[in-house]
Amino acid sequence: MRRVGILGGGQLCLMLAESLHRLGADVVVLDPDAGAPAHRRLPGGIVAPLDDAAALEALCARVDVVTYEFENVPSAPLRPFEGQRPFWPSVDVLMNTQDRAREKCFLDGAGFPCVPHRVVPDGGDLAAAVRALGFPSIIKTARGGYDGKGQTKISDEATLAARLPRGPQPGGWVVERAVDIATEVSCIVARDARGGEAVFPIFENLHRDHVLDFTLLPARVSPAVAERAREIGLGVARALGVVGLITVEFFVTTDGGIYVNELAPRPHNSGHVTRAATSLSQFDALARVLVGAPLVTPTLAGPGFAMANLLGEVWLAQGAPSADDLALDGLGAIPEVRELYLYGKRGVKAKRKMGHLVAAGRDADDAMANADRARAALSARVVR
Ligand code: ADP
Ligand code: MG
Repeated sequence: MRRVGILGGGQLCLMLAESLHRLGADVVVLDPDAGAPAHRRLPGGIVAPLDDAAALEALCARVDVVTYEFENVPSAPLRPFEGQRPFWPSVDVLMNTQDRAREKCFLDGAGFPCVPHRVVPDGGDLAAAVRALGFPSIIKTARGGYDGKGQTKISDEATLAARLPRGPQPGGWVVERAVDIATEVSCIVARDARGGEAVFPIFENLHRDHVLDFTLLPARVSPAVAERAREIGLGVARALGVVGLITVEFFVTTDGGIYVNELAPRPHNSGHVTRAATSLSQFDALARVLVGAPLVTPTLAGPGFAMANLLGEVWLAQGAPSADDLALDGLGAIPEVRELYLYGKRGVKAKRKMGHLVAAGRDADDAMANADRARAALSARVVR
């Protein structure tokens, strides 16, 4: 397997392509946007919708194996092509993870712990589900949500009356009890077609406005919590029969509980820290699976690392005239920065993920302080 097709041409595709190139593989990207980061940097891709049968046919003709960089790829149009080329992870895995209702059914059925929830079909009684769970609860669309989009928090009867989503919602809803979160962690597992497995160290994730802000390695949790997350992560990967990568997001609650939040069958934003922090990155691991190279266990490269996302706000604060014009001078003062990666997106927008950086430190806290200083330095207004 040396030619890899990737559905979706964003930053995850771009970083995966780098790892694939290092293994001598060719990459063909399919994305409808000619200005997508991967189309801009990798020539020869296909510009077409992800559910375009002719484009999928053309892609399959040019590659040995197909993967995807996000789970909101329409899965039904991929089915007819699964017989032609392996899709890793499989279309079944994609279907089970792109719909929160199906995902919850899988997790419940396989005995993995989730917060109390109700699945409500389109047109079903959302208010009754919220009342049954109690306040506060969160209503999430079953399909299409990311970075907190498609979610409504209901704190009491008044917000229920005012904010209850109305109108058709294909796929329906999942309502969850809002729990008191002490820490959020994630576990990334890679599995290959021969049964080889690699589990990354557990990451700690800090969000701001529902968007990932920092990822810390090692996670500041007890060894018992880390071990449980690892065990569940591996269990989920095996139960789904994943070939490729799967990320399991968890809530660790203030009363010490650990619950699976959601699954992503692909590289994950929290895993960007592995590009500097572990012997093998999440992208290297997936690339190995895709080309049939053996997996090895990723080991920590130092005592502490932190990834900070760079959202459009950094560019806006600096007064950068365009996405390609971020001044980097501020980083000179912070030698602990191990990686700065700018995704090459065209437009600057608040909340848009435009890049990330990874800093090292004496431990996770120190690394977070360094990453925070580095991001602040990049966010200082620049006189041009
Ligand atoms: P997304 O697809 O946007 O990542 P998530 O379901 O992971 O959706 O929710 C985003 C964030 O919202 C979570 O990381 C967590 O901080 C918060 N959140 C989601 N569900 C709950 C819940 N049941 N209780 C408390 N916080 C929640
Ligand atoms: Mg999430």
